[in-house]
Amino acid sequence: MTLLLNGFELAKQCRAALSEKIKTLPRAPRLAVILAGSDPASAVYVRNKEKAAREVGIESAVYRFESITQKELLTLIDSLNKNTDTDGILVQLPLPEGLDEKEILQAIDPAKDVDGFHPLNLGKLMIEEPAPIACTPKGCLKLIHLARQNLTGLSAVVIGRSVIVGKPMAQLLLKENCTVTAAHSKTKDLPELCRKADIVVAAIGKPKMVKADWIKDGAIVIDVGINRLKDGKLCGDVDFEACFNKCDAITPVPKGVGPMTIAMLLENTVEAMERRLSL
Ligand code: NDP
Repeated sequence: MTLLLNGFELAKQCRAALSEKIKTLPRAPRLAVILAGSDPASAVYVRNKEKAAREVGIESAVYRFESITQKELLTLIDSLNKNTDTDGILVQLPLPEGLDEKEILQAIDPAKDVDGFHPLNLGKLMIEEPAPIACTPKGCLKLIHLARQNLTGLSAVVIGRSVIVGKPMAQLLLKENCTVTAAHSKTKDLPELCRKADIVVAAIGKPKMVKADWIKDGAIVIDVGINRLKDGKLCGDVDFEACFNKCDAITPVPKGVGPMTIAMLLENTVEAMERRLSL
């Protein structure tokens, strides 16, 4: 029988565990969130993060700017870096046009980089040193572990090579002793590659692109994609209904990877505080 990897439930359990842990800390962890511009989706994401933080006992401060210059944003980040009361800093992406995303992300103190996007933290992931790990791949790995604890020797295909999802995901699976193929838009015969994979992670941004005949019987399928269809409904990058019976385990969209991304942000904030204060 196929296991539905319910990210909504797992995220709830992660938040409950964090909430208990936070009660044992000397003070509440503090997260600074910067929202620049007027993208409605970003505003919703930030509100959800604020609410989730509050519910587990993390204090969040949201800095909202309709418009802000690169210099002003860098000055704010510098002051948050220096502020000993701030444990985590998150800049909501995408940034409005005109702002240099790379420079902004690199300005965040790596110890407070709760999104795990700083080059130093991405590098630490490569050399397997403890550091904040990007929230979405971190959450995906927890979902994969619901299906199978030991991943040694499994073959994995990660579709998508973004810095925020695909690349760190491939790295995490490599660390778990999987044999990993990082696929992308120039990959030849992707369906055939997927058919050989024990684990398929789809982080593409193309509705229902991964078809049932791409999936090996008994595979674990993680769908990172969030796509809005014409009728307003959300769907992933995997044709969920068609693939369901072929898989050992699969994430739905919504209520799969999405809630885990937020839960991992909260976990990264607590871990950042613990590392900084050597708790
Ligand atoms: P990007 O657009 O940065 O990356 C998409 C990747 O998919 C690229 O590497 C691209 O290849 C690859 N790709 C595009 N078309 C194809 C194709 N036809 N065949 C194979 N590969 C292809 O997206 P993100 O990584 O930021 O996000 C991916 C999806 O995940 C989106 O739907 C996004 O909304 C969702 N997402 C969900 C999150 C969650 O919490 N659930 C969090 C973050 C993202 P190439 O590099 O060659 O262009």
